[in-house]
Amino acid sequence: GGSRRCRRLEAEAARAVLGAADTLLFDCDGVLWRGEAAVGGAAAALGRLAAAGKRLCYVTNNSSRTRAAYTEKLRRLGFPPAEPRHIFGSAYCAARYLRQALPPGAAAYVLGSPALAAELEAVGVPHLGPGPAALPGPTPADWAQAPLDPAVRAVLVGFDEHFSYAKLCQALRYLLRGGPDCLLVGTNRDHRLPLEGGTAIPGTGCLVKAVETAAQREAFIVGKPNRYMFDCVVSEFNIDPARTIMVGDRLDTDILMGNSCGLTTLLTLTGVTTLDEVKGHQEIVGISVVGVLSFSPSSAQAGSQLV
Ligand code: PLP
Ligand code: CA
Repeated sequence: GGSRRCRRLEAEAARAVLGAADTLLFDCDGVLWRGEAAVGGAAAALGRLAAAGKRLCYVTNNSSRTRAAYTEKLRRLGFPPAEPRHIFGSAYCAARYLRQALPPGAAAYVLGSPALAAELEAVGVPHLGPGPAALPGPTPADWAQAPLDPAVRAVLVGFDEHFSYAKLCQALRYLLRGGPDCLLVGTNRDHRLPLEGGTAIPGTGCLVKAVETAAQREAFIVGKPNRYMFDCVVSEFNIDPARTIMVGDRLDTDILMGNSCGLTTLLTLTGVTTLDEVKGHQEIVGISVVGVLSFSPSSAQAGSQLV
């Protein structure tokens, strides 16, 4: 139907869409900022939305920052003040998932960042790693003799800039030892992280795939486009999907999650997905966009009349 088609939101349509919502979920990288630079007009637009009484939450697949670090980054870049409970990063959501899925006292073997470890600690999930795997000898065959912690009942894979073959060995050994009783959880499947100048670096999806390939099983994925992250927002704020907008820069993560959770979706053209890609996908069921909202200075101008 027509409402599933992509349209560019002009001021009046945007006013109607925003007026019907009480909560907005914002993807972070590519929508609010790129690296350390705020997207032009984004901080002012969110300031107006907050002043109009909208609840603003943040959903990011990046597992390398804590909720506290995101509240600080939002403050630093001039966004309206946010509390940690408004931030749904894949590190926090993974920790929350493991806390409810693991039996009390069970531990996770973690391939990830210090931030991922900090979020596990904050919810009381014991963990081994991140950090170098203890190697009992010089060859991979020796590593197969490394001691395994009896408490480990999950392998968690996030963004790990020190990912190694030794860690992959250890992850596989925990998964083989535990069989189906050892959970396999990935923070997200982003295949690349785009950088300025058209280049990119491999994303967490590459690391999750390596562990899945070794173990020959599929991970539970916490991040977008899966709905677990949205379920975390619902359980914290009891929001109504029909009055919630997902704002993102990617069709295959942000917009797909929004669509499958029954949210209104707004694609900004400030990140990964281009207008040409939108035109190529608008007929595909499940990847449709109801609005294209740009936070460029000109439409931020229009935005000032909206709320
Ligand atoms: N994962 C990592 C490690 C990242 O650095 C980023 C972006 O910086 C992302 C995922 C994507 O984050 P978002 O969901 O906010 O676009
Ligand atoms: Ca993004």
